[in-house]
Amino acid sequence: MQDLARFTTAFSLFVCSWLISPFHPPVAAQQPVLEAADLAIVNANGLACDAAMSRFTAVAVRDGRIVAIGQRADIEPFLGRTTQVIDGTGMTVTPGLIDSHLHFLGLGQSLQMLDLSQADSWEKIESMVREASLRIPKGTWIEGRGWHQAKWIAPPKGDVDGYPNHKAMSLAVPDHPVVLTHASGHASFANEAAMKLAGVDRNTADPNGGELLKDSDGNPIGVFRENAQSMIRRAQLQTTERLNDEQFRATVLSQIQLAGRECLKHGITGVHDAGSTFATAKQLKQFAESGQLPVRLAVMIRDSLEGLAAQMDEGRKEDVGNGFLSVRSVKVSIDGALGPHGAWLLEPYSDLPTSSGLNTLPLDELRKIAKLCKERNWQLCAHAIGDRANREVLDIYEQVLGEQASSDHRWRIEHAQHLAPSDIPRFGKLGIIPAMQANHCTSDAIFVPQRLGERRSAQGAYVWRSLIDSGAIVPNGTDAPVERVDPRASLYAAATRQLPSGDVFYPAQCMTRTEALLSYTLWPARAAFQEKQVGSLEKGKRADLVLWDTDLLNCTPSKILTANVELTVVAGVIVYQ
Ligand SMILES: [Zn+2]
Repeated sequence: MQDLARFTTAFSLFVCSWLISPFHPPVAAQQPVLEAADLAIVNANGLACDAAMSRFTAVAVRDGRIVAIGQRADIEPFLGRTTQVIDGTGMTVTPGLIDSHLHFLGLGQSLQMLDLSQADSWEKIESMVREASLRIPKGTWIEGRGWHQAKWIAPPKGDVDGYPNHKAMSLAVPDHPVVLTHASGHASFANEAAMKLAGVDRNTADPNGGELLKDSDGNPIGVFRENAQSMIRRAQLQTTERLNDEQFRATVLSQIQLAGRECLKHGITGVHDAGSTFATAKQLKQFAESGQLPVRLAVMIRDSLEGLAAQMDEGRKEDVGNGFLSVRSVKVSIDGALGPHGAWLLEPYSDLPTSSGLNTLPLDELRKIAKLCKERNWQLCAHAIGDRANREVLDIYEQVLGEQASSDHRWRIEHAQHLAPSDIPRFGKLGIIPAMQANHCTSDAIFVPQRLGERRSAQGAYVWRSLIDSGAIVPNGTDAPVERVDPRASLYAAATRQLPSGDVFYPAQCMTRTEALLSYTLWPARAAFQEKQVGSLEKGKRADLVLWDTDLLNCTPSKILTANVELTVVAGVIVYQ
C-alpha cells in the first residue's frame, strides 16, 4: 500500500497545521485517558446512517474501529496525547460509501486504456486510435472503452443501424489489432487486424447468444454483440503473452492500485466486485493479507457450473485481512443491456420489432448454478435487465429457494432495470435484493422510451420507489467502468432522476434523500452480509468514513453533484485528503 502510505504521510503533515490544539484535553488535569484513540473528528455534522439515522458531532477511532461516537463529551475520555484530532468545522461526516456493483479490476484496466466515453463522433474515436497507434508498438493490441452511438452528433460513414463500419479505421490503423468496447460492455468493435487474428470473415456464423453485424453485402462491419465478443477476446488472449505468476501479480496490483485511488478520492471505501475469477480472488486474498487492498472488496465469482462446483469450497473467503476481502457470491448474466438491444424483453423492442433481446445463459444452466449456490450456502447475483430476464430469474430463485425463500439468503438481481408490474412486489416478498445503479437511469433515459415505448417505461423502468415501498432494499452503485465511479451522479440520480437537460425521468420513482444515502451505505453493507461491520457509523464497527464539504442530506439537490470529499478514512487510517 505504498501509494496510500504516501497519501497518509503527506496528509498528516498538512493536517498538523489545522489540528486544533485546544481540543487536546489537558490530560493530566482530567480523568486519565484509558485507551487513547488514534484519530478523532470533532465539530462535525455527522450522519451515522444507522437504523435510527442518528446524528453526531464527534467520533473517535482506535485500531481501525469506532470506540466512541456522539457528542464531544462522549469521546472526551478517549482523547490522549497521541490522538490526532481533526476539527470538522461543521462539515459532514458519513460512513465510507460502498458501491454495490462495479468491476474493480476492469476499472483499473480502464484507467489504462483509451477513454472513448466523451467522444461525440466516430471520427473522433478514429483519430484517438490513430494517435495511439503512433506510440504503441506494431502488433500490440490497442484497447478502448466507452463508445456509444447515441452520444454521436451524426451516424458514422457507412454505418449499419447506427453502428460504425471498420473500413476507415482498418485503413488508418492496419498494423495494430484494435478492440473498442461499447459503453454497456455488451458489444465490441474490432478492426480488420483484430478480426484476422480471430479468424472472422464473411463466412463466420453468429455464435449462440451473440451476433456479428454485417453490411448489405454480408461482410462483417467489425461490431460484435453479446457473446460474439468472445471471438475477439479469445484472439486477444491467445496473442497476448501468457502471463507468468509474477506478471499476473504485478498486473492485478497495478489495476487495484489505480482503481483504489479512484475510489478513495470519491469517498468509496468498499466495493462489490461484479465478477472475477477464482484465480483473481486468490491473488486478492494475498493482497488482503498483506494489507495491500486499498478498499474493502466483496467479490462475486464468475465461472462455469463445473468450475464453481470444483472450486467453491476452497474459494470461499470471509473477512480476510481485517474485513478487506470476502468471497461468497456467484455472478451470472442472463441477458444483455438495453442500449445495444440486448436486454431480454417479454415483448419486442418498440424501436426494433424483430427482436426481444438476447438470453445469454441457458435457463437450465442458471437453475443448476442456483441449486449449487443453495447447497453450498453461497449468495447468487444474476445480471438481469429486461423484464423477461428478471421474470425468469425471479421464477428460478423462487423455485430453487423453495421454503428458504423466507430465509436470510440475500440473493440478488443485478440491475433489475425493467420490470413487469406484477414482478415488482416479488422482490420484497421473496427477500431478493435488486442492486441497481441509479446513474444508469439518467444516462439511459434518453433512449429508454424509444426502446420500450411509453407504457413499459412508465410502469417498469428503474422503479426504485415501488421496489422500496414493497419491502425491498435497493443498493446503489455505478457499474464502473461502464460509468464513472464517482458516486455523486448516482446519489443525485437516485434522489432526483433529473437529466442534464433538466427533464425528469418519471419523478414518482425517486428515492428520498435519506434512502439515497442508505443506498450507498447500510443497504450495500446488508447486500454483502456486512451490516454488522460497515455501512453505518456505530460503536464497534469498522472506522470507514468520509468528510464532505457539503451536507449530502440537506443541501439543495444540485449541490450533491459538486460535493467534495475532504478526506477519506479506511480502517481508521486517513488514505485520501
Ligand atoms: Zn456490471
